[in-house]
Amino acid sequence: MAGTENIQRHPEYYFPDGNIVIIAGNHAFRTHRTVLSRHSKVFRDMFTIPQPPVDSDLYDGCSVVHLTETREEAQIMFSVIYDGIEMYNPQSQSKILNMTMDFAFSILHLGMKYQIEPLQKLAIHRLERHFPTRLSIYQIYHQNARMAENLSGDGITLQTPEQCFAVANRARRHQMSKILPQLLYHCAQFDVRTILRHPELSQTDREIILELKEKIRTHVLDMMQPFFLRHTDKACASSTLCKERLEEIFEKQHFLWLSSSHLFCYVSTWLGVGTIYPANFGAKDVGLCGRCFNYLIGQNLLPKRDKLWKELGQLCGVPDWIGEV
Ligand SMILES: [Zn+2]
Repeated sequence: MAGTENIQRHPEYYFPDGNIVIIAGNHAFRTHRTVLSRHSKVFRDMFTIPQPPVDSDLYDGCSVVHLTETREEAQIMFSVIYDGIEMYNPQSQSKILNMTMDFAFSILHLGMKYQIEPLQKLAIHRLERHFPTRLSIYQIYHQNARMAENLSGDGITLQTPEQCFAVANRARRHQMSKILPQLLYHCAQFDVRTILRHPELSQTDREIILELKEKIRTHVLDMMQPFFLRHTDKACASSTLCKERLEEIFEKQHFLWLSSSHLFCYVSTWLGVGTIYPANFGAKDVGLCGRCFNYLIGQNLLPKRDKLWKELGQLCGVPDWIGEV
């Protein structure tokens, strides 16, 4: 047939006894009508409705179906259909957990489009794993993800407004209420101007994110108040310097507050040294006097952080979201 000169046979999913060729990207997958029909209502309907014979649309003697999906998407679809059991082995599990958010959403979309339930489950598993509803797991996961990313740059976390807003949008579209509040929280970390102007956001989500941002700000202010008050007495050795510094910290609402257990993480992330700070990190690195530094790292922010987490669903207009700590 015309236009298949550049088509390559997929090395894994090109079965010699297959009776239907699926072309995605520039790859041909020779598969089985009965197997595809068994897993996908869309393929079932496609193969049940008699198609007029088109002689020219044959590849290696088989009828051809062209998909608009990429080779990678088609490949994962066939791996789920043909090797579903493989998904349970630890190596495959880690592959799934490392797939990018974009790819997970493509898989979700694919699962919905072709009505293949295991594909949808796979994507949802990946996304929910990235945004757990239990705070203690969220914390560990995001600290690890951030560290892993710092080491390997594999893009697990969402860092740019584009990534973050796009993923929140898709979660909204797919009504993924289990992950939406965490995502909107991430979106609220960007500055007001970005949130106001970004074309990717719907008006509803824009309003939710701005309200959430305000609420987080109140929480942070509440948290910082003791620091501002202490500079009126002798607890601080250099009140001008420390006050200025703390005001800066307050202004900069950093990304990972919920995943940090005490204020030091807040400061160290702000300084760009990551959430895990080196043992020899001291007052000078933060720009505070020794007394304020010790006060800072001795703060227990857990109760306030837990409270915000529990309220997150309500704040995001997703009342059935239950945040456990
Ligand atoms: Zn001080």
